[in-house]
Amino acid sequence: QAGPNDLQTKADRLVQMSICASLARKFPKVTIIGEEELPTEDVTEDLIEDGHCEEILKKPCPAQYTGIKEEELVIWVDPLDGTKEYTEGLLDHVTVLIGIAYGGKAIAGVINQPYYNYEAGANAVLGRTIWGVLGVGAFGFQLTEAPAGKHIVITTRSHSSALVNECITALKPDHIIRVGGAGNKIIQLIEGKASAYVFASPGCKKWDTCAPEAILHAVGGKITDIRGNSFQYNKEVKHMNSAGVLAALRNYDYYASRIPNTVKESLVP
Ligand code: AMP
Ligand code: MG
Ligand code: MG
Repeated sequence: QAGPNDLQTKADRLVQMSICASLARKFPKVTIIGEEELPTEDVTEDLIEDGHCEEILKKPCPAQYTGIKEEELVIWVDPLDGTKEYTEGLLDHVTVLIGIAYGGKAIAGVINQPYYNYEAGANAVLGRTIWGVLGVGAFGFQLTEAPAGKHIVITTRSHSSALVNECITALKPDHIIRVGGAGNKIIQLIEGKASAYVFASPGCKKWDTCAPEAILHAVGGKITDIRGNSFQYNKEVKHMNSAGVLAALRNYDYYASRIPNTVKESLVP
C-alpha cells in the first residue's frame, strides 16, 4: 500500500512486471512507463508473454504510421486501474491499460477488463479486450450512443472533492454515475451508459488516460483536461493530469462550454 488514496497490491506489481518485461524483450528500443516503481530485472520467465494478436495484423496500417521507428514510441502502462475498487470487490471496475504514444499523441490503446461478466453466471465468457488505433477504429465492444437529450455524467467514486462535485452540479446532469477507474469510465462512454466523464481534480495520470484516449479518439470522441487542453504523452511529460479530465463520445463542446470559469481557474495544468 502506497497510501490510503493510492493503493498498490500484489496484482498491480505482477501485472506491471509481466507487461513491461514482455514488451521490453520484444521491443527493446521503446520507452515504457508504468505506474508502479518496480525493478524489471528480476522478472521470472513465467511472467513473460510472447504471443501476438492475429486480428490486429489483418488491419491495414495507416500510411502516417508506416515509417515510425521503435525508439519513437512511448508506451504508458497502468497494470491495474481501479485498484481501490478492486480491493473492495468491485471487480468490473478494474481494467488493465496499455497506451501507445507517438509524437506526444495517443495513437493506439488496449483496455483489458479482466473481470467483465464476472456476475453473469458460469456460462458467460469472463473478461474482454477493447483496443483501438487512430485511423483504424476500435474493436472488442459495440459502439453505442448515450440516450439522446439526457445528460449522464460519470465521475470518480473514491477520489471526490468539493471542486469535483461543484463542477458536476454546474452541468445540471439528469443522472450521475460514480464508478472507479479511468478505463472503466471510458468504456461506459463508448457503450452509451454515460454522456460525459467529468473529473475536476488532479490525481489522474498519463497511464490512466493514454489508452482510453486513443480508443475514444478512434471512434470520434474527445478527451482533454477540464480547461480544454489536450494531453501530451511524450516521455518527458509530467505524469499528473493536474487540470483534471473532461471526455465525451458526442457533444464534447456542450459540456466544455458549461464548465464554470471558477472551476477552470482552480485547476492549474
Ligand atoms: P478514479 O476515477 O477515482 O478511479 O480515478 C481514476 C484514476 O486516477 C485511478 O487510477 C486513480 O487511482 C487515479 N486518481 C484519481 N484521483 C486520485 C487521487 N486523488 N490520488 C491518487 N490517485 C488518483
Ligand atoms: Mg489508474
Ligand atoms: Mg493503477
